[in-house]
Amino acid sequence: MSARLITILGATGSIGDSAADIIARDRDRFAVHAVTANGNAAALAERAVTLGAKKAVVADEQALPALREALAGTSIVTSAGEAALEETAADPVDMVISAIVGAAGVRPTAAAVRAGNDIALANKECLICAGDAFMKLVRDNGVRLLPVDSEHNALFQLMEGRNIGDIVTYTITASGGPFRTWPADRLATATRKEALAHPTWSMGDKVTIDSATLMNKGLELIEAMHLFALPPEKLDVLVHPQSVVHAMATFVDGSVHAEMGAPDMRRPIAYCLYWPDRCGWAATRLDLAAVAELTFEHPDPERFPALRLAREAMQKRDGAPTVLNAANEVAVDAFLRGGLGFTHLPAIVEQTIAEADSRGLLSGPASIDDALELDRQSRIIANGELEKRFAAAS
Ligand code: NDP
Repeated sequence: MSARLITILGATGSIGDSAADIIARDRDRFAVHAVTANGNAAALAERAVTLGAKKAVVADEQALPALREALAGTSIVTSAGEAALEETAADPVDMVISAIVGAAGVRPTAAAVRAGNDIALANKECLICAGDAFMKLVRDNGVRLLPVDSEHNALFQLMEGRNIGDIVTYTITASGGPFRTWPADRLATATRKEALAHPTWSMGDKVTIDSATLMNKGLELIEAMHLFALPPEKLDVLVHPQSVVHAMATFVDGSVHAEMGAPDMRRPIAYCLYWPDRCGWAATRLDLAAVAELTFEHPDPERFPALRLAREAMQKRDGAPTVLNAANEVAVDAFLRGGLGFTHLPAIVEQTIAEADSRGLLSGPASIDDALELDRQSRIIANGELEKRFAAAS
């Protein structure tokens, strides 16, 4: 069997680390064509060398001299900038792992799809920012889209070989994040450090903050709606602090099937990389007796309004998820840089959606370019909302 040729977009991030670990353990099975990052030249150079990549690309052109220096004496081809990133994503490979964080991942992933490359999709923003247009692109180009996100990977596994008409509810689980048991009045004091201390998963900063607000679960509902062409009313969320059950399918006869596994992203990533085979080893094995207890509860909409906002955007569809995603990226960035309080995160998102609606911006983006233009306008509105909030506080 010839090795599967892989490109990793976002190779220096948390998903990139996990993907690299799997690939490095099975050199006969996988070969790496290209790795990309934003500006972290040193980490990218190291990744390119260890994985034997042919190309290394940074989105930030200012990082190119450092990348060139770090790779001097090797035959690895370097380049920089958004066009170079898209060109590289479009180089023919067996699979592109889409693991850039945020809407910045949409264009390179779309370029990979247009080129006919199969995708292992971690970048949920492709589906939240540009869901209808992105899924049309996937269909038109006949590429395979395998979900990396653990809950969607679990749903994919639960649906494989099933009569989909027999499934009445698709439930994804949420750990509940670090503030699951905090009373409402304490949430206003939550710090960056506390919000980044995820109880079960180790992930990049953006998705970790989204997990603390439960926005991540809302984004994942929208992601599932597009990935599996499901009506919103069939999608549900349960808080499950142990993060052992990732998703459940409830069948017409009342049977509930659950997908379980240790909370380790290498499992769903390996599932995509090896599909349709099973990866023959497990990075971590689930010891249910050690976990001892599996508990479930409904999410609290009062303390975690982000989930409600995402559900509303999912119901409205059209441009609402695009605006929600852009506003949330702006708000999370402001929280991480300091200055925006934890409970103000959903407020910025809500105000941005209301303002975009009043400007008549919420009609459906017909193409990926339209979605990214709406993303750009939404960021301007969200930054305006941030400024108003900072002005009121000073
Ligand atoms: P990280 O923040 O850890 O890594 C992000 C990666 O994207 C880095 O390689 C970074 O490069 C690169 N990047 C950042 N900005 C840009 C840009 N403007 N242009 C090009 N590349 C850029 O993110 P995660 O790995 O946590 O998440 C990646 C995606 O996967 C997200 O969409 C997230 O929602 C999703 N996901 C993540 C999970 C996890 O466990 N981490 C679980 C499920 C989904 P650099 O290092 O140079 O900054």
